Amino acid sequence: MSVDTRKETLGFQTEVKQLLHLMIHSLYSNKEIFLRELISNASDAADKLRFEALAKPELLEGGDALKIRLSFDKYARTVTLEDNGIGMNRDEVIAHLGTIAKSGTADFLKNLSGDQKKDSQLIGQFGVGFYSAFIVADQVDVYTRRAGSLASEGVHWSSKGEGEFDIADIEKAERGTRIVLHLKAGEEEFADGWRLRNIVKKYSDHIALPIELPKEHFGEEQDKPAEPEWETVNRASALWTRPRNEIKDEEYQEFYKHAAHDFENPLSWSHNKVEGKLEYTSLLYVPARAPFDLYQREAPKGLKLYVQRVFIMDQADQFLPLYLRFIKGVVDSNDLSLNVSREILQSGPVIDSMKSALTKRVLDMLEKLAKDKPEDYQNFWKTFGQVLKEGPAEDFANKEKIAGLLRFASTGDASGEQSVALADYLGRMKEGQDKIYFLTGESFAQVKNSPHLEVFRKKGIEVLLLTDRIDEWLMSYLTEFDGKSFIDVARGDLDLGKLDSEEDKKAQEEVAKAKEGLVERLKGALGEQVAEVRVSHRLTDSPAILAIGEQDLGLQMRQILEATGQKVPESKPIFEINPQHPLIEKLDLEADEDRFADLTHILFDQAALAAGDSLKDPAAYVQRLNKLLVELSA
Ligand code: ADP
Ligand code: MG
Repeated sequence: MSVDTRKETLGFQTEVKQLLHLMIHSLYSNKEIFLRELISNASDAADKLRFEALAKPELLEGGDALKIRLSFDKYARTVTLEDNGIGMNRDEVIAHLGTIAKSGTADFLKNLSGDQKKDSQLIGQFGVGFYSAFIVADQVDVYTRRAGSLASEGVHWSSKGEGEFDIADIEKAERGTRIVLHLKAGEEEFADGWRLRNIVKKYSDHIALPIELPKEHFGEEQDKPAEPEWETVNRASALWTRPRNEIKDEEYQEFYKHAAHDFENPLSWSHNKVEGKLEYTSLLYVPARAPFDLYQREAPKGLKLYVQRVFIMDQADQFLPLYLRFIKGVVDSNDLSLNVSREILQSGPVIDSMKSALTKRVLDMLEKLAKDKPEDYQNFWKTFGQVLKEGPAEDFANKEKIAGLLRFASTGDASGEQSVALADYLGRMKEGQDKIYFLTGESFAQVKNSPHLEVFRKKGIEVLLLTDRIDEWLMSYLTEFDGKSFIDVARGDLDLGKLDSEEDKKAQEEVAKAKEGLVERLKGALGEQVAEVRVSHRLTDSPAILAIGEQDLGLQMRQILEATGQKVPESKPIFEINPQHPLIEKLDLEADEDRFADLTHILFDQAALAAGDSLKDPAAYVQRLNKLLVELSA
């Protein structure tokens, strides 16, 4: 029995206390997952040892047969998990079992509602980890020693999962970590060989190292040997090395949870072995849920990298482009060297070629998901669509493929859901239509009634409605799909091509000619405020509208630039009038130049409002409108 020396009591970081509380109170319906988490950590510890031992073989002193041993004591009500992995030194124990290092944790925990059902959903995004031991235990003891350190440098960590933990130095002969769970009253069921065996099979069969349990002996207690005989209960081979047709869905799912530190099943996966010039195996997953830090710059991303089945690193982010950073999984290469470093990984022909092949795999997997399971794809889109939208700008070579995966809201669907694929749109195009029309704006509610859509409504032409913050930026990279160009309906001199008949066009020209005088008067009244005034063929119901110049920044891009404090290039709108509208007809007949100017300004301001823009001088607008109202009622 070792003696504790240099003992101290430390408080948990606030976030840990919150997490512990949450875990104990919201995960009670699925208690057994604690074992999966502890086994997952032991397996990670073995991976880390193997990796460090590549450079320092002496770390494997006392044996390189890495394994996990799980035992229990019915009478003492304990479950013990022991590994001979990397272990921890005192500082590491304090850091890893006393704090949560993940950035953004505090923000995440702030979002918890206190509603246990909702919170247990949220915690899935976070991963539960080591602290899940306290779901079933009211005391946890960890005895650990880092590989390569002295037997006297062992550490004992002990906690009741409340506010604090004790830490002390101990003698520990073997490297690695032993965790003793003192089961809570009522959790005795876990101190049982049959139960533990089943949990291991259910969640940890895919773990690559052997998980051993004492062999069961039936009969009299005294027949039991003093030293247990150990028996491996899991399959103990790396999942991705096995043939696809021998792996069950549940195994893929459990492996995902281990590798991705996720709590939920993935939406889809793709497992491939590549042979030939390059040799590697990849197992890629689409998660069902976004991690809470998806949009944080420093958030972990990338795949687990193995070289010839030896774990090399987590978060190898060189194998996929940024816009696919939500993909999780493993890549195991036979071409890279075992002492590959992050620097070497930055580029090179092997990495580049793997990156482009893996990118294509992911895009194919998403295409397949969209085709086979449209509902799941819709969920994927809601979760990660915004990230995928970064694709066309980042990955020129796959632009068309990515475009095919995008989903849009459209005038064809009143729900406002982003559910229309470009292929659907093409299938619904009108006779004579050879362009893909879209409109960007602040929100679906705002754009769906935009005057820019009037002529399209009249002709029954579908328009895609893009209201995410990055949409205007996205569309500056997306110029074509399937040979059809994209047209922003709020931009330039809308040309409907063959959708307008020769007669339509002729009539438009005639009207434009007839209204030349009015157009000149309007230019005079608006002066510097506009780039141009012209007769519109976009409108059926509204009197006037503002169009954006062909080369000018749209509203969204201007707002983004303004928000980031950048100088926004000056641009003026084009003022278009609807000659059929009674207000315009009236305006044309207005002889009083002052009234003409007032009315023109009101129309101009209203057009700006309808476009979702704010007025430069709202007070002047209100004054003019009120003046008009007074005259009306007089
Ligand atoms: P995660 O596994 O997601 O990092 P955990 O809460 O499960 O989070 O574990 C926290 C950390 O504690 C691990 O990252 C690791 O550094 C350390 N740790 C836990 N269990 C072990 C173990 N058996 N051997 C070595 N280190 C461990
Ligand atoms: Mg863990």
